[in-house]
Amino acid sequence: MESMKPLVLSKVVENDLCIGCGACVQTCPSKALNVDWNSYGFLIATSNENQCDEGGSCIEVCPFNPEPGPGYKNEDGLAADFLAEAPNYHLQMGRYHALYVGYSHKHRVTSSSGGVATFVYEKLFDKGLIDHVVTVGESKPSNAHYQYKIVSNKNDLLSISKTRYHPVTLATALQEIKQLEGRVAISGIGCFIKAIRLAQDKDPVLKDKIAFLVGIICGGVKSKFFTDYLAGRAGATLDDFSNPEYRVKEPSSTAIDYGFSCTDNPSKTTKLIKMREVGDMWGSGLFKANACDFCDDVTTELADISLGDAWLKPYNQDGSGHNVIISRSNIADQILHDGLKSGELDLEYLSQEQFLASQQGSFNHRHDGMSTRLALVKGDGYVVPPKRIEKIDLPIYLKLVQRLRRHTRSRSLEVWAEYKDPVEFDRRMKVELLKLKLATRLSHAVRKAKKVSGTKS
Ligand SMILES: Cc1cc2nc3c(=O)[nH]c(=O)nc-3n(C[C@H](O)[C@H](O)[C@H](O)COP(=O)(O)OP(=O)(O)OC[C@H]3O[C@@H](n4cnc5c(N)ncnc54)[C@H](O)[C@@H]3O)c2cc1C
Repeated sequence: MESMKPLVLSKVVENDLCIGCGACVQTCPSKALNVDWNSYGFLIATSNENQCDEGGSCIEVCPFNPEPGPGYKNEDGLAADFLAEAPNYHLQMGRYHALYVGYSHKHRVTSSSGGVATFVYEKLFDKGLIDHVVTVGESKPSNAHYQYKIVSNKNDLLSISKTRYHPVTLATALQEIKQLEGRVAISGIGCFIKAIRLAQDKDPVLKDKIAFLVGIICGGVKSKFFTDYLAGRAGATLDDFSNPEYRVKEPSSTAIDYGFSCTDNPSKTTKLIKMREVGDMWGSGLFKANACDFCDDVTTELADISLGDAWLKPYNQDGSGHNVIISRSNIADQILHDGLKSGELDLEYLSQEQFLASQQGSFNHRHDGMSTRLALVKGDGYVVPPKRIEKIDLPIYLKLVQRLRRHTRSRSLEVWAEYKDPVEFDRRMKVELLKLKLATRLSHAVRKAKKVSGTKS
């Protein structure tokens, strides 16, 4: 292995780039690291400096390493090693076999989108390719609602279906995997999958044990404040609710018309609020981790299969849910074809244009807006990781949107940390959100006018 200058993980934490994946914890030979909650509702790495050997193995597996040494591989470098068999490449989507849209007849009712994630786990068990699934389910007992857990029985898969917009960490699970008999599949958002690939690249035990990665296409990690805010808005008792569900579907309506629900423990009743009533929680950047603004992997490029929501007509008109799917490894593609043949999956091919359109908002923000954000934070003296995105000089009105989103993001965390009350939060965020809304509307209007007149935006 190429020797690297020891870098301290504190650079990641000090620059607010730690996403709490915990890959560093399992790699630290002197057990100096842990993952814990910070005051803004995120899980982040914590260290005991007296124990630190300064060897730098932690930073080598960090997906947001701000100062990578010569041996560090970015998404393209890792994909060349781990997904060498994929026949296609697209600058924005990475290496892949094929693009699909569809759902699992059996699982979509109990899943967040089309239930293909749960279907794939089931088939991996059936084929004898894995003995365990490491994914996110209810956390008991813990002060978190959800956490990574290990499921070793196919019949328990339903307990881990559904999307959890809640901070989680792999810190414990990655250590446990090494002790497990047999092989595992893991689900993760882009930065977690990258951390796993970096760890596999360094550790032959993990390379052998982890047989399959299910990539969850991610529009940003939310603080646990997001869950508290939604519970409060739904009318639950803030410090005594459980079982938050982020994607309560309305099969008779459209896919976007989903709700958030939770159990109010004192009254033992279910509280539900439609997401349309709380406004735009994604494009505004509310409660989002800072690191997500410096991630250019929109489609979870390093997984065997990447799964997202089909925010695309006509599929988004069906409230039962559809997945957009990118198969990247042979085995992933085979599972999909078998499912189509057996009638267990409803599946159609998607064109590149259709796929890109299904995640357009995320590409606009994460790729097109990246150089503006890099310039903004570098100007404030922060260190950020090198990105693959070419410099795009946005027009002034889009730069303004980026600046306002950054502000809304950080302000939302400060306001909730101080008041922890949804009414006060809405009151205090009103001006910020209004400014952002007006700037966004202006940018849409200018874009539309330029399109009509044939001017390049
Ligand atoms: C934080 C986050 C942001 C997302 N943003 C987008 C987006 O911008 N665009 C988009 O198209 N899709 C997004 N998704 C993905 C989408 O919500 C669905 O998870 C995905 O389409 C899979 O649906 P499914 O019905 O196949 O999954 P299911 O069959 O319901 O299974 C979901 C699987 O994901 C696992 N899981 C749940 N939460 C997490 C988590 N936090 N981290 C890792 N694994 C988890 C579950 O344990 C389960 O194995 C996001 C998901 C998350 C967790």
